Amino acid sequence: MKDDGNPMRAANQAPRCTAHSKRTGERCKAPAVNGWTVCRMHGAGGGHKAGPSHPSWKHGMRSREWIEVRKYINELTREAREIETRIEAEGAGVGTVRRA
Ligand SMILES: [Zn+2]
Repeated sequence: MKDDGNPMRAANQAPRCTAHSKRTGERCKAPAVNGWTVCRMHGAGGGHKAGPSHPSWKHGMRSREWIEVRKYINELTREAREIETRIEAEGAGVGTVRRA
């Protein structure tokens, strides 16, 4: 590349941040931090590792794993209720034996 004496050439050609604006959807134009794909404003160099080593970790009941477990339990409970409702509806029909 031709050296035109512009000291900002290297800075302007630095890799750009890959983040997109929430409002406009346009890409961030800031230079990415070395070793990252995002700029300093979009999370480069920050954050803790997720999991028990995170300083805000209390008991793990709100971890991704437990959220999935609770979703599964809720789904099973919903299905059980649905089955119960169906059985009760059929029980009210003709040809069923009533319990004392
Ligand atoms: Zn950015």
